Amino acid sequence: MSAIVLDGKAIGREIREAARARVADLERRTGRAPGLAVVLVGRNPASRLYVSNKMKACSEVGIRAQLHEFDASVAEAAVIRRVEELNADPSVNGILVQLPLPAHVDIRAVLRTVALEKDVDGFHLYNVGGLALGETVFPPCTPYGVMKILEHAGIEIEGKNVTIVGASNIVGKPMALMMMRREATVAVCHAKTRDLAQYTILADILIVAAGVPNLILPQMVRTGAVVIDVGINRLADGRLVGDVDFEGVRRKASYITPVPGGVGPMTVTMLLVNTISAAERAAGLAPAPAAQPAEDETEPAA
Ligand code: NAP
Repeated sequence: MSAIVLDGKAIGREIREAARARVADLERRTGRAPGLAVVLVGRNPASRLYVSNKMKACSEVGIRAQLHEFDASVAEAAVIRRVEELNADPSVNGILVQLPLPAHVDIRAVLRTVALEKDVDGFHLYNVGGLALGETVFPPCTPYGVMKILEHAGIEIEGKNVTIVGASNIVGKPMALMMMRREATVAVCHAKTRDLAQYTILADILIVAAGVPNLILPQMVRTGAVVIDVGINRLADGRLVGDVDFEGVRRKASYITPVPGGVGPMTVTMLLVNTISAAERAAGLAPAPAAQPAEDETEPAA
């Protein structure tokens, strides 16, 4: 068996085409393109690269992106003040605070300051809680991107065994909640899970977001499983790899995402989609989130 490789770049390209059309429509109807403000604190090279990719993607679809940079020593209050200013700025539809933040800045306090209707990363307390209850305003971009990859490939979720390796607030936990809402049977594993393989081998859909290269080996994967590799790891020789032994596992899986070129481009794409949705709602061209049906987390189709 050789798995079908799920090309996140190509899927993302299709969604971005539709996003460009939505931006053009918004501009025609409101006279203004959607705006995204990115808050970046410190000089973490990975963060800077992610931010520059996101800003480039914005400009490609016509979203106006503005960067708000702070030195790593900035006071928490100054970051919060800037977020409050961005909340009040009608030209800004989405606010993204690039994580991680320096240790002296309380991530929760900063994220809680982001106005709900501009929380395009989906990290606000309300959005995270809303995922559990079906009142999400913005689905967090990485799990949203994973859902779109599965949807694009026509992979059913209902009734499937889904194992998620990684339980972080930004990937593993929201992924689990989204899968539960789609009526999957979900197992969530983390660093203290005993005998990881006993969970991974049960998975019809295995989603890995641990940040550990080669964590998932072929013998841990059920024949015919769908394997989604969220991990991004830079090896000593400079290569970028995921958490899955891609060459080994692709011989056993039915579908697999590569790294790079799998989930990564979809994360950025879904940020664009969320920002456009925010602008459409602000302009009254899309229903307010509360009016959306509970199962709407993968909508609007971009
Ligand atoms: P994180 O906050 O470090 O969380 C990692 C999670 O994996 C934790 O729950 C941790 O368990 C678990 N874990 C660590 N080692 C493990 C092991 N040996 N076995 C089982 N579970 C293990 O990381 P994150 O922000 O979620 O990111 C995870 C990976 O995804 C990273 O490689 C990151 O670069 C990548 N990522 C990619 C995208 C994308 O767009 N493709 C977006 C975000 C993140 P504990 O909870 O017990 O510590």
